[in-house]
Amino acid sequence: MAQARILVVGGGIAGLTAALALARHGFSVSVLERAAQFREVGAGLQLGANAMRVMAALGLAPDVASRGFRPDAAEIRLGDLGHQVFCLRFAQNAALRTAYVQIHRADLLDLLVAAVRDAGVALHPAVRIVKIVENTDSVAGVTEDGQRFEADILIGADGLRSAVQGYVLAPQPPRFTGQVAWRATVAADAVPAGLVAPRGTIWVGPGRHLVTYFLRGGQLINIVAVEERDDWREEGWMLPGDPALLRAAFADWHPRVTTLLSKVSETYLWALYDRAPLPVWTKGRVALIGDACHPMLPFLAQGAAMAIEDGWVLADCLARDTGTAGLARYASLRQGRTARVQGAARRNAGRFHRRGPVGRTLEFGPMALANLFAPWVLRRSMRWLYDHDVTGGSGV
Ligand code: FAD
Repeated sequence: MAQARILVVGGGIAGLTAALALARHGFSVSVLERAAQFREVGAGLQLGANAMRVMAALGLAPDVASRGFRPDAAEIRLGDLGHQVFCLRFAQNAALRTAYVQIHRADLLDLLVAAVRDAGVALHPAVRIVKIVENTDSVAGVTEDGQRFEADILIGADGLRSAVQGYVLAPQPPRFTGQVAWRATVAADAVPAGLVAPRGTIWVGPGRHLVTYFLRGGQLINIVAVEERDDWREEGWMLPGDPALLRAAFADWHPRVTTLLSKVSETYLWALYDRAPLPVWTKGRVALIGDACHPMLPFLAQGAAMAIEDGWVLADCLARDTGTAGLARYASLRQGRTARVQGAARRNAGRFHRRGPVGRTLEFGPMALANLFAPWVLRRSMRWLYDHDVTGGSGV
């Protein structure tokens, strides 16, 4: 039944990747997006080799790489002293050398929108689904004013506060993690040459961390600064932030950090949410993907990467079987891996934000020793994440 109709609710990275993979298998695909335009908020995104293999299999890797930036390594540094604790050089890792890209979200979304259009996917902006109605022959997404979009399968790719999630099982509200993130970009030519290394750098300190990397071939520097807070009382989850407060939060850090933050003129503040792994991802003709089923802290830079892997696996499972067995196979292939990544991202919060001299020495001392004397131990510890290939060899 290769011509089955598939409705994707949500036109973010998860929804568009799934739509593209499904269209390549010959399905008739429509994407419904509540926003008036298909666009992404926020700035940069890191895509590890596991996500880039899917981009390669979809034929998008060269464009993603040319619109983004290829770092030489990922490193951890102490926020106050500036000492390097750990450095994973991508040139030493076959999989990562070929594929690790940092890209502006807007650029990735533009590429995905162009690709799904070329593949014949029908895009419907300004359509907000509030209800799912299912019967034995079909399923429909319904808007507030009663407009119905009918299909054989419906995919909930509608993010953290997913409406489709509440159909699949009782609504599971995401939880505030006690962390907020400032996000900002700075033009690379506004800072002294060499201030920011051409790699993903995680500056760590008690209760805080800050990540820097380049975007757009090195023209732009992306900054994500995270601080523990228990006082998020705002209605929204994203607010304009005050650059002066961002600078104050990191005022006692290394001059490379404070000099960079002195150039920030605009910033947004995000409350960070996640959720315990959902036990059920599918119901009848409906399945969840991306943040709709596994929102996670961004401390492993893998939320979008998991959404991209989901999209590929779901399309592959439906190409084999468009019935409930196909959806069940998708869930069984993805639940364990995404739960593991959710847990690892959460554990990184404790690791990066370790307090007190003893706690910090116990955390970073062994890492620094392994970095000096046995760097392969650290590389090996990341293989489960980056070497995973959902494309079965069709990607890089
Ligand atoms: P979303 O991006 O939320 O998309 C959902 C879409 O559905 C939206 O377009 C929305 O408008 C639409 N929608 C919602 N409800 C409805 C409805 N009822 N009807 C129709 N449409 C609807 N991930 C990485 O892999 N690497 C990183 O480096 C990284 N860095 C991050 C840094 C920060 C600070 C944060 C907060 C996250 C980061 N992530 C990263 C995570 C990543 O951004 C998310 O996991 C990813 O964007 C989720 O994509 P999604 O398509 O599932 O959800």
